[in-house]
Amino acid sequence: MGVLTGRTALVTGASRGIGRGIAERLGRDGARVAVHYGRNEAAAKETVAAIEAAGGSAFAIGVELGTPGDAEALWEEFDRHADGLDVLVNNAGIGSSRPIEEIREEEYDAVFAVNVKAPFFIVKHGMTRLRDGGRIINISSGLARTAVMPGNMAYAMTKGALDVFSRDLSKILGRRGIRVNSVAPGLIDTDNTAALLHGTEDGWAQAEAISALGKVGTPAEVADVVAFLASDAGRWVTGSWVDATGGSLT
Ligand code: NAP
Repeated sequence: MGVLTGRTALVTGASRGIGRGIAERLGRDGARVAVHYGRNEAAAKETVAAIEAAGGSAFAIGVELGTPGDAEALWEEFDRHADGLDVLVNNAGIGSSRPIEEIREEEYDAVFAVNVKAPFFIVKHGMTRLRDGGRIINISSGLARTAVMPGNMAYAMTKGALDVFSRDLSKILGRRGIRVNSVAPGLIDTDNTAALLHGTEDGWAQAEAISALGKVGTPAEVADVVAFLASDAGRWVTGSWVDATGGSLT
C-alpha cells in the first residue's frame, strides 16, 4: 500500500523530463496516473510502461496545450479513462531565452499560453472533477525569484504569474480541503536544458556552481518534493512556494 493508493493523479507534460519523474513517483506511491503528453505519444507510452513495470497503474492522454479549447479537450480525454481526480500537477511548460530586445510577440504569446493560460483553464474546467481534499501542484521555477538569467525574463514572468495563481487559488479551494502549492525547480537535467547544460563547454560546471549542493538537479529530486505535497504529510502546507533549487537562490 502506497500513500496515494486509491487516488488518481494527472501530471501534464509527463512524457519527458520532470513530468515523467513526477508521474513515476506518484505511480510508485500508489496513485493511478494520467500521463499527459503534447506531441510525444511514444514517450508517454514509455512513462506508462515504466509505471506499470514498477507495479503501478497509468494511462496516457494527449492534448496539445496552448491552443484554443485545450483544457476542455484534456478533460474530455481524461473522462474517458477515470472518474474524478485527487492530485493535479500542472507541469507542462516551455522555455523562452530570447532577451527583450529580440523576442517577438509570437514567442511571448506562446510561452504565456502554455505556461500560464493552460494551467489556469485546466483548473477552471477541472474543479468539478477534483475531489474535496485534493491537491494541485504547479511547477514554477527558481527564475521567478532571481534575475540571474535576465534573458529568460518572459519565461520567468510566466512562472511569477503561476505563483500568484497558486497563492490565490489556495484561498478559493481551501474550504474544500484542496491544497495548492508551487514547486520551483532550479536547473534540472532535461531536454529543456540540454543545450545549456550539454551544448556548451562549461555549461554543466557553471550549473553545478550555482547550487549550494554543487550539483545539477534531477527530475527525481523534484518529484520527491511534489510527492511530499501530494501526500497527507503535506496536509498543513498550502499557498506556498516551495524552493526545489538545491540552494541555487542562497
Ligand atoms: P521538457 O523536458 O522539455 O518536457 C516538457 C514536457 O511538457 C513534455 O512532456 C512535453 O510534452 C510537455 N509540453 C511542452 N509543451 C507542451 C504543449 N504545448 N502541449 C502539451 N504538452 C507540452 O521540460 P522539463 O525541463 O521537464 O520542464 C518541466 C517543467 O518544469 C516546465 O514547466 C518547466 O518550465 C519547469 N522547470 C524546468 C527546469 C529545468 O531546469 N528543466 C527548471 C525550472 C522549472 P511532449 O514532449 O509530449 O510534447
